[in-house]
Amino acid sequence: MAPPSTVDEPNGTTLLTNIGELITNDPSQAAGHAPAADRLLGIRRDAAIVLADSTVAWIGDATAPPAADLAIDCHGATVLPGFVDSHSHVIFDGDRADEFAARMAGQPYAAGGIRTTVAATRAAGEDRLRANAGKLVGEFTRSGITTFEIKSGYGLTTPTECTSLQVAGEFTSETTYLGAHVVPEEYADDRSGYLDLVTGDMLAACAPHARWIDVFCDRGAFDEAESMQVLLAGRGAGLTARVHANQLQHGPGVRLAVELGAASADHCTHLSESDITALADSATAPEPTVATLLPGAEFATRSAYPDARRLFAAGALVALATDCNPGTSFTTSMPFCIAVAVRDMHFTVAQAVAAATVGGARALRRDDVGRLTVGGPADLIALDAPSYLHLAYRPGVDLIGGVWRAGRRVR
Ligand SMILES: [Zn+2]
Repeated sequence: MAPPSTVDEPNGTTLLTNIGELITNDPSQAAGHAPAADRLLGIRRDAAIVLADSTVAWIGDATAPPAADLAIDCHGATVLPGFVDSHSHVIFDGDRADEFAARMAGQPYAAGGIRTTVAATRAAGEDRLRANAGKLVGEFTRSGITTFEIKSGYGLTTPTECTSLQVAGEFTSETTYLGAHVVPEEYADDRSGYLDLVTGDMLAACAPHARWIDVFCDRGAFDEAESMQVLLAGRGAGLTARVHANQLQHGPGVRLAVELGAASADHCTHLSESDITALADSATAPEPTVATLLPGAEFATRSAYPDARRLFAAGALVALATDCNPGTSFTTSMPFCIAVAVRDMHFTVAQAVAAATVGGARALRRDDVGRLTVGGPADLIALDAPSYLHLAYRPGVDLIGGVWRAGRRVR
């Protein structure tokens, strides 16, 4: 794939042709006798696709493509939907590289490390937070992520949480209020006072700037009753739940997420059989809870990885996300997450690619993104590789040859 002549191309029609593998995530695009992985990803071979303005206008055989204002020969490369990252924390200031290095030298991870970032974020000011987030969002784009969620949670005062969400909203409509990330130091002796703030004045100020509410339901953060209080208050303010669940130990997070109809239970590192059954049962419910796995977190905390085969065998919906944050997963690379998910969480490559695209879309309750369909948004990636398998087969290698968001080439 040749680099773009200009990154900002004029509106009009663009034809990508001679695509070796076109991943649509639309099973009807795969041949009836195709292998299971091809059907899962809706793979069409020797394909072409036409983008018109911000949408996909045509998908078909490369032998007979329609005319377009601009034609790009993909020379047999792979094209897939843009990645959908349903879990990130990119509004912060400060650097925790020393903490990472110490952990790699043997020090265990504790949730309190978040407070280091809180202090830096509170001191940063809006412009610096915007600049920091903009840099990381640029990295998302270069890694092929075209839809992403951003959480607050490093301010933990009403004005700083509110500012965090306003800045996040400049980059994405998928904004999440995470006042219940940890109890900040000044409330260490008054947990109920902090919960009153998170579910009261802070929520009232933040809810207009958020679509979602999240809580870190785990050891060292919030217990079951506290998490329930936070999520119910959020629901009362019109926000939909997502939950940081079962990262550090077995606990109530996944069960709570399913009970409350949360869109996603994130981390799922420690799952009981009943957690897996609950997630699988919810897969066919009107408001399913997606199990979102975050391989960057286990990687950067040197924790045991969850075995995704248990989730797939039970029939749960699964997503992969970066969890980009300065403490425990400072990566913006979805290809890295795919490679680790395959190597260490026992995803098949096809399952990992589906989880990073349509899985992430489900975790955000979106049915427009994460797939390539005529009339849908023209969010796509051209890989410098003959097969999507290379995303895991060639770890650490930048294979992203081109990225289009809403029909505009952004890489
Ligand atoms: Zn997180």
